[in-house]
Amino acid sequence: MPVGILGGTFDPIHYGHLRLAEEMLELARLRQIRFIPAGTPPHRDLPQVSAVHRSAMVQLAIADQPAFVLDGREIQRTTPCYTVDTLRELRAELGAAQPLCLLMGGDAFLQLHSWHEWEQLFELAHIVVGYRPGFTLEERIHTAMPQLQSHYQQRLCAVEALSQQPAGGIVELAIPKLEISATLIRSRVAENRSIRYLLPNAVADYIHQHHLYTTC
Ligand code: ATP
Repeated sequence: MPVGILGGTFDPIHYGHLRLAEEMLELARLRQIRFIPAGTPPHRDLPQVSAVHRSAMVQLAIADQPAFVLDGREIQRTTPCYTVDTLRELRAELGAAQPLCLLMGGDAFLQLHSWHEWEQLFELAHIVVGYRPGFTLEERIHTAMPQLQSHYQQRLCAVEALSQQPAGGIVELAIPKLEISATLIRSRVAENRSIRYLLPNAVADYIHQHHLYTTC
């Protein structure tokens, strides 16, 4: 069974991430999902809170789902870390035959050409893309750069293919998107507003106990 990989800043983790992971676990029939908090993300601003806090919140959030695992490899690096390097490490550890699935939203997929060594990603893992029902990738793929469009056309496959090959496929899964973002949660905390029901209680308690996100 394939292993899923969900990278993110998780600044903080919330129910949008957890529902995405739960739906993908079920629909893609994954045996495990590794949550990999980014250390120094190459693509975006530095996270607002330390890697130690972000990892602790992920650990609290996934504690009751045995198929979800915290993987701290990226936060231990001090240099910018690229997904392609993380996948190379996982491939070396888990073996050439283990199917790996890189999980992401449709918006992230359409920007894939901006990732470091992006075409290598297909050699190392499948890519499983979550899209909102009624807002398919197929309808939007023409907005992607031509090289990405041709990978999409050649590699698109059914979910069953994920366990038959170790890497190289693209699978789309219809996943209702919750309108929750880490940005929303950070701003709610900074405004002293409630964050209940946007993320697990244990994570909300951790944020308050450690006085995280009190400023924007
Ligand atoms: P921020 O608001 O700080 O940009 P974020 O909430 O988007 O953060 P990230 O850690 O950047 O969270 O996201 C990690 C992964 O989770 C990305 O692939 C992103 O597409 C996905 N994701 C984030 N929020 C949701 C959501 N509400 N529903 C589905 N997927 C989500």
